[in-house]
Amino acid sequence: MTKAIYPGSFDPVTYGHLDIIKRSSSMFDEVIVGVLNNSAKHPLFSVEERVEMLIEATKEYNNVSVICFEGLLIDFMKQNDISVIVRGLRAITDFDYELQIAQSNRKVSKETIDTVFLTTSIDYAYLSSSIVREYASYGTDVSDFVPEFVAKKLENRFR
Ligand code: ADP
Repeated sequence: MTKAIYPGSFDPVTYGHLDIIKRSSSMFDEVIVGVLNNSAKHPLFSVEERVEMLIEATKEYNNVSVICFEGLLIDFMKQNDISVIVRGLRAITDFDYELQIAQSNRKVSKETIDTVFLTTSIDYAYLSSSIVREYASYGTDVSDFVPEFVAKKLENRFR
């Protein structure tokens, strides 16, 4: 039984994230979406709000759960018996950073964990939470990028 974690900020969840979640849910027995609670960042949505949005957006997948975590990802993984990290790759600009993190996580975990990269669907290659936040902050409709209820939450936040 392989448990995978898909970690990120998800501020907020986009169709790009949901595409990766859908695809990984058919590859692994269990997928845990891990929302990073990083006090150094100043997110638009609180960690509770981000978790809540992800739970709603992933409710159709019965092997997907959503949690928040703090601290080092590999410590959380060890404590919860998770052996695989899932990350999405959009463009070559993601690659350098992701490669470095994946290799250091492998080293520090004494080669007990692996990172699996899923390449983004072409439809979502340009999409990021920060682009969504930027458009929403100017009152632009973002319902092509995020589920309707997330678009509503963004609209309220920037009103
Ligand atoms: P982080 O702050 O860790 O980058 P994000 O919420 O921005 O968190 O992203 C989480 C993961 O989802 C990362 O692996 C990122 O590359 C991936 N991702 C983000 N947007 C997309 C997208 N449009 N298509 C595929 N993967 C994506």
